[in-house]
Amino acid sequence: MRVTAGFSRLLRLDGVHVRDVVFEPDRVVVEVALRRRRLVCPCCSFSTPYRHDVRPVDSDWRHLDLGVWRLEIRARLRRLVCPTHGVLTEAVPFARYRSDFTLDFEALVAWLATRTDKTTIQRLVRIHWRTVGRIIERVCVDELDPDRLDDLFEIGIDEVSWRKGHRYLTLVCDHHRGQVVWGTDGNGAGAADEFFDELGADRSAQIEAISMDMGPGYAKSARAKGHAPQATICIDSFHVAKLGGDALDEVRREYWNQLRTLGDQDAAKRFKDARWALLKNPENLTGRQALTLKALKAAGGTVARAYLLKEALRSIFAPGLSVDDVAELLTRFCSRASRSRMTPFVRLAKTIRRHRDGILAAVRLGLTNARAEALNNKVRLITRRAYGFHSAAAALALVLLTCGPIILQPPHELHLH
Ligand SMILES: [Zn+2]
Repeated sequence: MRVTAGFSRLLRLDGVHVRDVVFEPDRVVVEVALRRRRLVCPCCSFSTPYRHDVRPVDSDWRHLDLGVWRLEIRARLRRLVCPTHGVLTEAVPFARYRSDFTLDFEALVAWLATRTDKTTIQRLVRIHWRTVGRIIERVCVDELDPDRLDDLFEIGIDEVSWRKGHRYLTLVCDHHRGQVVWGTDGNGAGAADEFFDELGADRSAQIEAISMDMGPGYAKSARAKGHAPQATICIDSFHVAKLGGDALDEVRREYWNQLRTLGDQDAAKRFKDARWALLKNPENLTGRQALTLKALKAAGGTVARAYLLKEALRSIFAPGLSVDDVAELLTRFCSRASRSRMTPFVRLAKTIRRHRDGILAAVRLGLTNARAEALNNKVRLITRRAYGFHSAAAALALVLLTCGPIILQPPHELHLH
């Protein structure tokens, strides 16, 4: 077999034949030519037999490595005049428009990005993390199911930070499928407005319930005319439980500052270390943290009381409790918290009373389930990996590729079909 024929079988690139193979010191370059005579616009389905000209330089794409060799595809492309898009370089069947990588290479990177960490991908594939970001943006646009916004009945809308300095994504999840189906850069009412605009009046009218946090933005947008005023607003229980942790942390910090001001540096240091013992769920504590917690509780005082309140609030949302049980427990919690003489908890009791209907609606509709929280945790883990991406679109693509209605496959599986 000739080397060009051999490479033709090896590469499995659609619609090309191999003209030459050049071994350079650090890479193998495979020169190919398109089989088709017609020129196809990369932005639409327009095709023409007439060429405008030939690009004066070669085009290169990185393909899957060949053993330890970097492999590049090279072709001399023509340009066409599309009546809609003007003068453009013709499309190739084996790579996306404006990409320097083949479809197979991009499939590999996207698959890896949803499964492993930044350092591993950068070393294995030898590309920069920002390039990973650009690749997954393209893959996401192509692979996202266009029908994913049909048949939404119970949804959740929430914000997640994707990089330091308060940069947020707003994400919409479908509670039935347990998937993230939509997202955008930014947070608050404006972000939710964007979602309802894209959803349109008919599909918005189908929505029965929307779960969210206690901030005013998402609720305001949901209630607006033409959005989903018919939907029941539910408050996600993990947001409520989280506020208990925040209130405890405030009490702890205040106490720690007092110790420092009083000059008790040793106690202040010990107390700072106790942060995780107090804030983690007791079942997740390490042995040492459990001991610290035990000592804190035994010592009593404000922080110990705050801890008990935080745990009481969390236990209200344990699985298996009826709406009546939760209603009763919320009442008891609020009266204990407002009598606690701890400002953060007095404030928390007020907040909970204000959102009581929404909190109970979530329990009644079963939207407080572990699945929603599991999805939420998964999203948070993914967005931490997205720190370092250049754009919100790349961070969003990583979330959608990992938690959305997309099935990614490594390249060899793509070629099975
Ligand atoms: Zn076109």
